[in-house]
Amino acid sequence: MSGQNGLVLYPGSFDPFTVGHEDIVERASKMFARVEVAIGVHAGKQSLLSAEERRRAIDEVVVNLQNVTVTTFEGLVADYARSRGAFAILRGLRQAEDFAYEARMAHANKQIGGLETIYLSASAEHVYVSSTIVRDVYRWGGDISSFVPEPVARALRAHTGRS
Ligand code: ADP
Repeated sequence: MSGQNGLVLYPGSFDPFTVGHEDIVERASKMFARVEVAIGVHAGKQSLLSAEERRRAIDEVVVNLQNVTVTTFEGLVADYARSRGAFAILRGLRQAEDFAYEARMAHANKQIGGLETIYLSASAEHVYVSSTIVRDVYRWGGDISSFVPEPVARALRAHTGRS
């Protein structure tokens, strides 16, 4: 069932990558042979950190997880997942609101790419952590250190220094 290379693709914007995302990746790395964090890049969509800044920071976060890699992609998740040979897409679920959106995505990815979607529930302490909250707190100069892993906080500080 888990395909030839045992790869699950964890796609998202990760703008920025939070402690909630980190928790999902750590747990998934113990369950699947390989996990690929796939940063979706949407040309024309304004993002806080560039794709390259996100990739470098996430690379640092997962440096000790031997079976986790980080890539960027453009276009449809289903197409990218297939091109990577992933057997399934991995997503995290926080609350009921996530489910409505995720169920539609899962259906589309099944229709387009024949791909299953696997969900991990957010850990209780991370249910209220979101990239949106981090972006809001960051924009107003608030302390984001409890919401993001240290390499991401560093990337945000460097970003502030430049802007
Ligand atoms: P997207 O822009 O594709 O919705 P995100 O970068 O916001 O992607 O999130 C990627 C995935 O991680 C989604 O499945 C989302 O539900 C999940 N996720 C986001 N925050 C958390 C969290 N705090 N705990 C667990 N899963 C989360």
